[in-house]
Amino acid sequence: MCVLVHVCDWYRKPSASDRCLDFRSAHAYSMKLACAKELMGRALRLSSLEYREANKVRVGDMLRANGYPKSLIRRLMAELSSSTVGPRTVQDDGSRQDDGVVPGITPRIFMGLTFARGISPKLKVLLQKDLSNVSVVFKYSNKISRLHTRLKATDPIELQSGVVYKVNCGDCSACYVGHTISYLKVRMARHKRDCRNEHEEGTMLSQHAIEMGHRFDFDGVSIEDREQKRNRREFKEKLHIMLNENCCNKRTDVNGISSVYAGILAGMKAART
Ligand SMILES: [Zn+2]
Repeated sequence: MCVLVHVCDWYRKPSASDRCLDFRSAHAYSMKLACAKELMGRALRLSSLEYREANKVRVGDMLRANGYPKSLIRRLMAELSSSTVGPRTVQDDGSRQDDGVVPGITPRIFMGLTFARGISPKLKVLLQKDLSNVSVVFKYSNKISRLHTRLKATDPIELQSGVVYKVNCGDCSACYVGHTISYLKVRMARHKRDCRNEHEEGTMLSQHAIEMGHRFDFDGVSIEDREQKRNRREFKEKLHIMLNENCCNKRTDVNGISSVYAGILAGMKAART
């Protein structure tokens, strides 16, 4: 078997900021460990033996600048150095050493859980104890993208898509909640067409308009929520139907919503009034 080994070093762009997940941030300890290990692993795995000592110093400095304790860095470095580290080798058939998927092993399922300090790590242990093939990974709602200024102008409402919308009746207090992945103007045009065609089944919006002789305020359509994924958008639509007392939507439109949400929705309704 022919094994090819290249001499290489860990490359950092001249503009690299050397910032990584700060040790003092409100993230799970396991995530900080994973961040430090990944950086160390990358620095050592991507470099040949002659560059490794210098890279250990570089990555150690970088972690210390981001608040990681010296003792932790020393321990992780010792653990990593004792395991086999080196550039990945390419075999005769072009496959890598670490490409292998072990046959007969059930693939792991990853599930996201929003991180809350103190609760989430305990919940993770409990969940993984009962569900052996499930790995719980933490999600964080406070992301860097939330701090960035929006430089791009938002699209006009009629050109927005992947939304839950609400249209009010112009002649009574009824409203209609719907969802669409198309442009909102395309969906509104479809509603208008349905309202003109008495012979088509249409939606509850067109039925209300035709039966009552009312006109909906399509120009005043509002966006209640956004979601690109269909099943999540349908779920949000149901929640907004439940939140609006005067919806002319079918009551079956909210089937599948757990009664667990009833209390939360009642609180939200009360806050709105
Ligand atoms: Zn009406």
